[in-house]
Amino acid sequence: VPTDPSRPDPPALRILQIGEPVLRSAARELAPEEIRGAAIQQLIRRMCDTMRDAPGVGLAAPQIGEPLQLAVIEDREEYLRDADSSWLAERERAAVPFYVIANPKLTVTIADAREFFEGCLSVAGLTALVPRARGVRVECLDERGQPRVIEARGWHARILQHEIDHLRGVLYVDRMARRTLMTTTNYARYWRDLSLEELRETLDLFSPSGPECGS
Ligand code: ZN
Repeated sequence: VPTDPSRPDPPALRILQIGEPVLRSAARELAPEEIRGAAIQQLIRRMCDTMRDAPGVGLAAPQIGEPLQLAVIEDREEYLRDADSSWLAERERAAVPFYVIANPKLTVTIADAREFFEGCLSVAGLTALVPRARGVRVECLDERGQPRVIEARGWHARILQHEIDHLRGVLYVDRMARRTLMTTTNYARYWRDLSLEELRETLDLFSPSGPECGS
């Protein structure tokens, strides 16, 4: 359905924050006809606008209050423009054109875990180090309800794991190295330029309670 260019865009959807029950629930699958229907097509457009407005590189339907197995993904060239090339190379991060996934089934193809800081629009203002598989394959439906297989590695694989977790009620805080949880401001101020080894030494990364909290 073509949009009327004289009508202003609807405002971005509100992104729900951690603690909302829908963010902790399993989302339901969509039928292909339902995906092609006007309601889901409009939802996809609004999720795209909301993701770009945030801005973010992915948004799952539960984050805007819809318990559906649907997510949008896009890593725009403009987000990468100011990053240095070694930072991007280390993360295996490159632009990903906009696309939609529905009813995804994820398989790990490269199991070695990569640890990087990530954040979530539903855990605003915070970031933490999260181990994720380096490569994944996702079988899903696209925005027309057609089957699609996505092979991804590096940052794109991380985005897929993060978004598909949302459809199962899982947030990155469930998978993070707990002692690395911090505000994005403090991340930029103290930690952004440290190597993984330096982080390990300073934060005693995977200790459940920290070195001084034994008793
Ligand atoms: Zn998220």
